[in-house]
Amino acid sequence: MIRRLTIFGVGLIGGSLALALRQAGTCQEVVGCSRSEGHLRQAVELGVIDRYSLDPAEAVAGADMVVLAVPLGAMGGVCESIRDHLDPEAAITDVGSAKGSVVDAVREGFGEMPHGFVPGHPIAGTERSGVAAAFPTLFQGRRVILTPLETTDIGALAKVRTMWEETGAVVESMSVAHHDEVLAATSHLPHLLAFGLVDSLARMGERDEIFRYAAGGFRDFTRIASSDPVMWRDICLSNREAILSVIARYQDDLNMITRAISQGDGDRLLEIFQRAKAARDRFCE
Ligand code: NAP
Repeated sequence: MIRRLTIFGVGLIGGSLALALRQAGTCQEVVGCSRSEGHLRQAVELGVIDRYSLDPAEAVAGADMVVLAVPLGAMGGVCESIRDHLDPEAAITDVGSAKGSVVDAVREGFGEMPHGFVPGHPIAGTERSGVAAAFPTLFQGRRVILTPLETTDIGALAKVRTMWEETGAVVESMSVAHHDEVLAATSHLPHLLAFGLVDSLARMGERDEIFRYAAGGFRDFTRIASSDPVMWRDICLSNREAILSVIARYQDDLNMITRAISQGDGDRLLEIFQRAKAARDRFCE
């Protein structure tokens, strides 16, 4: 289906996509491009890509599918570097965790919105990064959200959808704004809470003792605080308004729990905890 796939940023997400598509036999050739030759050479050695170029113009030449899998803050620069070299018939998509900022960056980088651009976001990942962390089954059974624009070419949309389905993902569509609101609540807020909690504990005087006695619950709750700090800084700055709005709502709810504890209101605590347990049990089923 894809003759030449060019991936900008062959890390966890870009590398896993390449592996999944190669395993499915969907691509004739996969070309990688990023800043470090060492990382790209490693990607060839691991069998993730066929070849690479450090020159974005050369990397994108002849590509019929282009995937932007770089950090959010780097999307605009990559677009600017390929604007005069991208085949006008090529489909181009991204994997960024916030969509409004990527749409703005793509429009700015290209000088106008390319018709072949289909914003996308795989709801899959781990706390690890880099090509060595990539694996072909990362997207299997996971959701991929596409947020097509009014300008998006219907053929490009179909091609990007099929590409993700080939990885075993379930593809859904929604608006850019809705995506950013939903992800602020379900992904961005939990990551902020994990980073914030671990940082807060780490700065306490008794931190050695706290971490010595931390057990499974602490490990479960804070796993995502091992995620890439640069990526999460970019996400916070890129989806600022939606994140601020869910933080405000969460702060109100935390105040309610604080009040219940200080007033010794066990009924209130039980009501909150039972509602939360039922919701999580349903989610896990
Ligand atoms: P990653 O493993 O760190 O990979 C990012 C890659 O981008 C690296 O291989 C890096 O290679 C390259 N890169 C960085 N800056 C660049 C630049 N200015 N120009 C060209 N290449 C550049 O990160 P990731 O987890 O795959 O995340 C990539 C994207 O996926 C992000 O936009 C993120 O929002 C999105 N995403 C992540 C997850 C997740 O759980 N990790 C989930 C869904 C979506 P060099 O060092 O060689 O340049």
